[in-house]
Amino acid sequence: VLQSVLILPASSNTPASSTPEPVANLKRKQPSGSNSNSLNTRFGSFPHSSLLIPAGSQVRSSSGAGFIHILRPTPELWTLSLPHRTQVVYTPDSSYILHRLRVRPGSRIIEAGAGSGSFTHASARAVYNGVHEKLPPVVSTGIETIDSATGSDAPSIETTSTQTGSEDLQGRVLSFEFHADRAAILRHELQQHGLHSVVTVTHRDVCASGFSLPDPSLNIGGNTHATAVFLDLPAPWLAIPNLNRANGSLSQTKAARICCFSPCLEQALRTIAVLREQGWVEEDLVEVAHKRLEVRRLGPGGKEIGTKSRAPGGDDELKSISVEDSVGRLKRQLWHRKAKQAKQRELMAKKRKLDAEGDGNLEDMGDDDSDVDMDGGEEDEAIEAAGEENGSGKLHLFHQGRVVVRTEPELKTHTSYLVFAVLPLPWTEQDEAAAKLKYPIPP
Ligand code: SAM
Repeated sequence: VLQSVLILPASSNTPASSTPEPVANLKRKQPSGSNSNSLNTRFGSFPHSSLLIPAGSQVRSSSGAGFIHILRPTPELWTLSLPHRTQVVYTPDSSYILHRLRVRPGSRIIEAGAGSGSFTHASARAVYNGVHEKLPPVVSTGIETIDSATGSDAPSIETTSTQTGSEDLQGRVLSFEFHADRAAILRHELQQHGLHSVVTVTHRDVCASGFSLPDPSLNIGGNTHATAVFLDLPAPWLAIPNLNRANGSLSQTKAARICCFSPCLEQALRTIAVLREQGWVEEDLVEVAHKRLEVRRLGPGGKEIGTKSRAPGGDDELKSISVEDSVGRLKRQLWHRKAKQAKQRELMAKKRKLDAEGDGNLEDMGDDDSDVDMDGGEEDEAIEAAGEENGSGKLHLFHQGRVVVRTEPELKTHTSYLVFAVLPLPWTEQDEAAAKLKYPIPP
């Protein structure tokens, strides 16, 4: 059972909105010589035996200084905490790619290379349609030995004419990796995470040997029949000619979509050229520029509504300003401002009167600009936030504060260039005839 944990100090009362600190990161912080059977954090230690409890439970540290919330593991948490064997695809990219490839429960997606398994986990969730639990687990394919003479480990590629009926099986990730150890470790991790019936890992050089499957227990006759392909390889253009309907790697009944993940434009352009040669269309080049936007609501005086402040007792507490408090405060500020404006008008009237009488010495009258703050400064900001009274003495609800947006100054994730393309189904004479029958051209 894979457990993810969310660690918080004992005084915290906002666990739901906090960002979880993944287990693997915390493990790295353990001082050398510490007990490897417990998770040691700055809030205390947590014996592993105390963490094997249902997701959602809370566990106190042995010192009582903090607690853990056991979270259900997700692909996002795994991507943040997995042991890196290669560069990995991060969530902003994988979510966009899976969306563009139209991967959904029941889809069959080819992935090469599998690397550290980050994208594998994201796609496993996307294709999962719940039927796997009822099926006997499919054991991941064994490590194939690469033929020392040819470098090829592929069994002969079968034609698929008898296999098309088997395309409506459960969703599956068909993952290929030519580094033997990486393939073996990923297989082991998937087994631990209970995903071995959803993902099939094959040790294979897909450029040299294509995408056929060696394990007949998959019940799809050695063919992948995929509708989606994700290539994260140094030279995807060498693997693309191995993807076609004739050899059974792509679905014969549905359009196929591909995404190639390449770090430089030259590679992306080379990929596009080969895709065109191979009949793929609608080539599209995308770069995901992930930038976090922080949206907050500012209350009177530019203070954040609902922020943490230090209470007189010394403990942190969440102090949120209620709408009523805010409105009352703003009304008082409006009243003070109006009083000042009235005083200003009164002074000016007196000045005009004295000028007319030939004695304009306002100093005696205490005409002091500092007393009449027309610009308002902070106060103006509050008034702006408050807006005008609506005539009934009540303020509109949207006057709860000003919404401000801050953006991260720099992009944090490095993204590659994503080349997308579609291989449509061929349009046959029978299709044309059927279409004419269904949609007759008006005379
Ligand atoms: N997408 C992966 C992830 O999210 O964790 C990372 C993939 S990593 C950048 C690229 C992987 O492709 C490496 O593990 C490498 O061994 C594998 N690879 C390179 N050439 C390959 C080939 N011809 N066939 C299969 N795998 C290959």
